[in-house]
Amino acid sequence: MENKNGSDKGLVIVYTGNGKGKTTASLGVALRAVGHGLKVCMVQFIKGEWYYGELNSLKRLEPNLELVVAGKGFVGIIDDDHDFQEHVRAAKTALDIVEQKISHDTFDIIILDEINYAIHLGLLDLADVVRIVQNRPEHLSLILTGNHASEEIILLADLVTEMKEIKHPYKKGIKAKKGIDF
Ligand code: ATP
Ligand code: MG
Repeated sequence: MENKNGSDKGLVIVYTGNGKGKTTASLGVALRAVGHGLKVCMVQFIKGEWYYGELNSLKRLEPNLELVVAGKGFVGIIDDDHDFQEHVRAAKTALDIVEQKISHDTFDIIILDEINYAIHLGLLDLADVVRIVQNRPEHLSLILTGNHASEEIILLADLVTEMKEIKHPYKKGIKAKKGIDF
């Protein structure tokens, strides 16, 4: 069986675009990887104050999966009562956590959820993220999700998928649905 062990070299994976499915695609990879006994860490940038179903189900995958919720909720929308600097601090803390996880070298895959969007919003310096991606251990895979992935990140990546919205129920006025959207 050719795919028994797979390649030892990690990949840089980007899920971007305006369509739904970026975070859930990364969760699909996590589910698959944990099934092989691999260790996965997901660090959530931006999100943080809503309750997502995955917060609970990922606990069932411990200790192979570790989830770090570092973000401060959505940025700049109506019920956002944090000032911009608070979001900046939260995003920087999330990035520090990623660096710590990388330096401990216990994970096979680290998911940086919404990091592309955090960079786009100016919460993080692109150069800091580029440095982390370039200096990672060779075996480590990184998954960077979020819309508006920067050109530099796309250049560094091995796999880039753009989720393109064809239809979204939100456009018909259908609200976020439990189990599908959160
Ligand atoms: P998911 O977490 O469902 O995989 P995502 O990571 O691609 O979605 P985000 O930009 O992180 O999308 O947005 C998270 C939330 O916004 C989810 O509840 C998702 O259903 C919703 N969403 C995603 N894309 C759209 C869209 N094009 N229009 C309206 N809502 C969207
Ligand atoms: Mg997402």
